[in-house]
Amino acid sequence: MASITLNHLVKQYGDGFPAVNDVSIDIADGEFLILVGPSGCGKSTLLRMIVGLEDITSGDLLINGQRVNDKEPRERNLSMVFQNYALYPHLTVYENIAFPLRLSKGKFSEEEIDRKVRTASATLDLDDHLQRKPANLSGGQRQRVAMGRAIVREADAFLFDEPLSNLDAKLRGQMRAEIAQLQRRMGITAVYVTHDQTEAMTLGDRVAVLKKGILQQIASPRELYEQPANLFVAGFIGAPSMNFIPAHVRGEVFATPLGDIPIPAQAQGKMTQAGEIVLLGVRPEHFEDAKFVDEAKLPYGSVFETEFTHTEWLGNQQYGYIRYQQDEAVQAKLNELARDLDGDEMAPQLVVSLDASSRIRGGTQGRIWLDTRRMHVFDPETGDNLT
Ligand code: ATP
Repeated sequence: MASITLNHLVKQYGDGFPAVNDVSIDIADGEFLILVGPSGCGKSTLLRMIVGLEDITSGDLLINGQRVNDKEPRERNLSMVFQNYALYPHLTVYENIAFPLRLSKGKFSEEEIDRKVRTASATLDLDDHLQRKPANLSGGQRQRVAMGRAIVREADAFLFDEPLSNLDAKLRGQMRAEIAQLQRRMGITAVYVTHDQTEAMTLGDRVAVLKKGILQQIASPRELYEQPANLFVAGFIGAPSMNFIPAHVRGEVFATPLGDIPIPAQAQGKMTQAGEIVLLGVRPEHFEDAKFVDEAKLPYGSVFETEFTHTEWLGNQQYGYIRYQQDEAVQAKLNELARDLDGDEMAPQLVVSLDASSRIRGGTQGRIWLDTRRMHVFDPETGDNLT
């Protein structure tokens, strides 16, 4: 397998914004790296630059330390798995997997081809389906055939371009698990493009978040969730999305539409100006119905009495919705963020997760607890996380 190094890569199509803007990433041998971001962020362009389907405007691309900018796709020895799997409908599973070997004319004997196809199909649990045509396979099996074709080539790395986006939710979940297991078992280097944050979080060793061609943060899924570098990453990672609550700095506290919250120690030095507006970031799951919070935990957060507009019951939990008055300037900022995230306008509304047996209902008052240890503080101008 291989390491892949992206060194200040730029892709400029016309006059406007570069599609990929100075991206540097070191992908280790055997690593599973995810490129994620909303539509148009440049993730597919970046993948196509790695595989050689797109010229590099500037910067260097290295595979195992060798500069490959000017190498043809087939000289790079990378294998691409596409969204539609690109299987040949008239060929059997066996012949689909053997196809890349037959392409390199005369390089492999029939015995070698047979051995490689059978090893790959055993790894992928396709032994019983070798004589079938793609039309007679499930989506998951087709995905495995596409992987089989990549495996027999013994490529240095696998590149995936949204391979699961045509599948229904259930199959997507199964295939996600399957790809993750295969990647670990085979120790392959993989770069995987998706716009789906759940896929990114569950598959990747590391996740690179892109916005408008610029790398926002590259980190483990846990670190992205717990320590997002800026508003964009915070809003993109996690479902339902993080709440952004406007707050005025007032002495030792943040004055918010919910009530006052003591400024956490780690943010204190950075809040100099009284009256300054910041955005507090709190994930829905870091709120709870105060009734269900352990006595011992209570002091680590703040409790608010608030009115709920409605609740949603999901069986294992509920979501409660709270509306509040929003400052116009702050609302404009949040709408801009929502557009960056590919969403509609951001309503002045909080979503809080509640225990399944919580009695809080729409139209009633409820007491909620906010775990201030998990709260982030963002500068609304730069978007930087100040905590
Ligand atoms: P999606 O998820 O919608 O595929 P993406 O994040 O993969 O989006 P890219 O397809 O890489 O984004 O596109 C990045 C930017 O480059 C977009 O603004 C797109 O319009 C532009 N772009 C992509 N391909 C070309 C091209 N061949 N010529 C000109 N502009 C292009």
